Amino acid sequence: MGFNDKPDIKDLTPEELRAALEAEGEPAYRAEQIFDWVYKRGAAEFSAFTDLPKRLRQALDDRFGLCLPGLAERQVSKDGAEKFLFRLADGRFVETVLIPARMRQTLCLSTQVGCKFGCVFCASGKGGFKRNLRPSEILGQILFLRDRFRIPLTNFVFMGMGEPLDNFDNVAQSTLIMNAPEGLGIAARRITVSTAGVVPGIERLKNLKLQVNLSLSLHAATDELRSRLMPINRKYPLADVLRACEDYVRSSGRMMTIEYTLIRGVNDSVSDARRLGAVARRLNAKVNLIPCSEFPASDCRPSLPAQKALFLDALERMEIRATLRRSRGADIQAACGQLAGIGVKS
Ligand code: SF4
Repeated sequence: MGFNDKPDIKDLTPEELRAALEAEGEPAYRAEQIFDWVYKRGAAEFSAFTDLPKRLRQALDDRFGLCLPGLAERQVSKDGAEKFLFRLADGRFVETVLIPARMRQTLCLSTQVGCKFGCVFCASGKGGFKRNLRPSEILGQILFLRDRFRIPLTNFVFMGMGEPLDNFDNVAQSTLIMNAPEGLGIAARRITVSTAGVVPGIERLKNLKLQVNLSLSLHAATDELRSRLMPINRKYPLADVLRACEDYVRSSGRMMTIEYTLIRGVNDSVSDARRLGAVARRLNAKVNLIPCSEFPASDCRPSLPAQKALFLDALERMEIRATLRRSRGADIQAACGQLAGIGVKS
């Protein structure tokens, strides 16, 4: 079977599966049984769905796939973060990062193979954009780790390879399935969608009323600097991005986070901190300060410790909630901005 021959059953929401079954004259409760096998029991093939008639199992097998991505490589950082390199059905690769902490196990999900946006501090865009992930490929990253490694995942962030809101339909579809009680039953407050500032995507996410957390990858608080670091800012300038974020916060009732990578001599002055503080105040957002990751083909260097302290101090004087993040997984190229989907063997 070729990659595009048939959809995976995990590409469908409960409503879509119900409608597909009803169109074939099947009772609606079959959809609940099927979702139960896929999402609660983690069955790997339709023949295992033993409470379904044999002819329906065969019909499902004829019409849908039921696949998980293949694990090509697993690397464990000395700080406990883990990176999983997954091979997709068409032979392309994506990476997923597990970040364990005392009270939570956070999974950082990829949404695209590569990225169109080419932010200067990020490896994901360096090889260009290849394609969007399907909902089943996004959900597959979760199911693989839950079912094969029995990892009790608690939090989910769309912050891996790709710009989530540039693959809006498939990210929204997977989020609906993650959140649905028949699906993975994950509370919306445990799901965070990150964006580099795709304004139409932020507006569509607001209209979905899913109430997931929104995180803005800001990295610079002036149009001039942001356009240099993140070319997407030329299409969606800061004023439009911040207006869309304000609307999202107002409508969802969620608190936003701002991600800000500290790059030595580029965006880490005290004046930069004050401009960032003004944006954070306007959005009533928490700020995560991320150490800049080094990777081949990047000129960006992490800020020096003394400068980081001055930056944080300037934010705290403005009474902005800010956290200086530790870089997790840098030794296995799993830190923010390092995911390139190539693993160590290639
Ligand atoms: S930071 Fe996000 S939008 Fe920018 S290149 Fe990396 S993955 Fe793409």
